Amino acid sequence: MSRKILVLEDEANIRSFIIINLKRAGYETIEAGTGQDALDQIRHNPDIDVALLDVMLPDTDGFEVCRRIRGSNKRIGIIMLTARTQEMDKVTGLMMGADDYVTKPFSPAELTARIDALCRRATGETIMSTDEITYPPFRLSIANRTLEKNGQQVKLTQVEYSIIKLFMENTGKALPREEILETVWGKDYIGEAKIVDVNIRRLRIKIEDDAQNPKFINTVWGYGYKWGS
Ligand code: CA
Repeated sequence: MSRKILVLEDEANIRSFIIINLKRAGYETIEAGTGQDALDQIRHNPDIDVALLDVMLPDTDGFEVCRRIRGSNKRIGIIMLTARTQEMDKVTGLMMGADDYVTKPFSPAELTARIDALCRRATGETIMSTDEITYPPFRLSIANRTLEKNGQQVKLTQVEYSIIKLFMENTGKALPREEILETVWGKDYIGEAKIVDVNIRRLRIKIEDDAQNPKFINTVWGYGYKWGS
């Protein structure tokens, strides 16, 4: 079963370059040239595994498309295609729910490595041994890949779920950022460790009572993060 990838890019030559290389790597591809086009394709193809979203588009921007996709779909992997000059945009994209970003110009190998990492994560580990982990007021269901706080479900992306799972399996243990990066994003990940911090920031907003004074995801200065005290 081949993976289905949506490519949203308005520049036809870049889009076809990406499509050719993804097909060569064995992916099934769906093309979109505008934000609206992409949203329509997502609606008609609920089995899309990963969406590649260009930031600069004629009708809207990639962040808005990302936000709208995430509004109805937590499962899909989202990679933003950003220009080198859009340093801040990476962070904006991740805050809007993207899982990763690739800076233009990128090589086909870099792009497929990122997609592969996301696909592996989205499929999830099929370990059924532990059903759930509790850490009041949280309850993490491994089978359903969901997190509840005080009985209310917290909507998480696949990346956020993987981070929380890693934390809850290592309660009270300081985890270096590199270990979080390797466990969640995979050994082949070639991006920056900063992506960990951005996801943590977003997670704190979702799960902490006060994201400025976190009680659950604690910073271990110059090292990484720790779940609990
Ligand atoms: Ca563009």
